[in-house]
Amino acid sequence: MKKQITPLTSKYEDACGSRSSAVSNEPLPDADANKGKKKHSGDSFRIRMLIFVFGAIVGLGVFAGIMYFTQDKDADAKKEKRRYSSSYRTSSNRSSSGSLGDFYRTKDDKKDDSVFNDPGYTLPENISSNDLSGYTIILDPGHGGRDTGCVFPFDSPQYNECDFTLRIAKRVEQELTSRGATVHLLRTDNSWVSLYNRLAQTHLICLDIAQEQGILPFSEERADELRDLLWQNIYINEDTVASGGMGIMVGSGVGEDLNDLFEMEYKLEKVLFLSIHLNSSETRTLHGNQIFYVTDDSVIESENRQMNENPEYQRSDFPIREAYYGRHNEDNFLLGCCLYDNIVGNIPDFETNGTPVNSDNYAVLREHGLTGALVEVAYLSDDNDREMLQQDQVVDQIAYSISDGVKMYYLQKDI
Ligand SMILES: [Zn+2]
Repeated sequence: MKKQITPLTSKYEDACGSRSSAVSNEPLPDADANKGKKKHSGDSFRIRMLIFVFGAIVGLGVFAGIMYFTQDKDADAKKEKRRYSSSYRTSSNRSSSGSLGDFYRTKDDKKDDSVFNDPGYTLPENISSNDLSGYTIILDPGHGGRDTGCVFPFDSPQYNECDFTLRIAKRVEQELTSRGATVHLLRTDNSWVSLYNRLAQTHLICLDIAQEQGILPFSEERADELRDLLWQNIYINEDTVASGGMGIMVGSGVGEDLNDLFEMEYKLEKVLFLSIHLNSSETRTLHGNQIFYVTDDSVIESENRQMNENPEYQRSDFPIREAYYGRHNEDNFLLGCCLYDNIVGNIPDFETNGTPVNSDNYAVLREHGLTGALVEVAYLSDDNDREMLQQDQVVDQIAYSISDGVKMYYLQKDI
């Protein structure tokens, strides 16, 4: 059933409007009291004077109260707006995307089940329900097994990215599931799962959803044919061209098989892909949360560059195909903003000194047609980030924030 949800921005404008009309409807000082001032006769005059003074005091009190209330609220709103707008000032994509990311939140909407001690933890304004039933989120805990991801300390590792990403992803899964979403975890333990295995799993999940919803853009026989091809990636479970583990995703651009899958996935509006990672800075100067997403342009630009630089891409048997077009570029950016906005709004320590929301060419986002984001939760190389990532309360907070980010995205999209 389609839920009627008004986008956050227009709800906020409505709220401003109702405050204005409330001011104009308040009773003004009694106009008759002014007339009474001109009558200088006995009891009638004294009674009129008393009414005037009383009316004036009440009127001034009401006026002062309204002024205090509206100024306080407006100042809060402006402060919040500045805070969330400024988050994107350094994003290279900000200028082309208008008001995306200008979200609001209010201290009045405190979340009841917050386990975090930060009293400022709030849901975004007008999120009246956490309900995510009907939505599917594919969660990819980065790395695992022989691929530890980034480590710290660099020379004698004690902390591995793959352990953090699994723990966070499982907590996010728990939170999303509790809100009614269907969640698929692409890695459930500390084992090696190749990138193209994860992508094949993603396509298979999408084939099932599209088939279930009766929106396959091709025949069921074609769906089974594609399933057979994708299962090859899972059996081989390697990321090299030589192993065959890349399957229908090998090469640049989109082949016919992948194109069919993309066409199907572009239509799955209620399915999102989130890859969970930690970042690392060799110079240890960077910290905080960053979100990455793909656009047609970012992928094609990067593919062309690699084609010129990478000898593997220049092999005669390496498929060079049509470029990638048709992604939901703006949706990917919007999702990135919603995630960053909530993570940093709820965990201020994770405000990055790098670029918050970035477009790039990540295979894990490139090789499917779903709207998605890669969440670099924080920097393992930063002492404060690392210390926080080890706290249960912070992991809870990350799970709440990512789930709220997903909800905010769907509220903005009104789907
Ligand atoms: Zn990673």
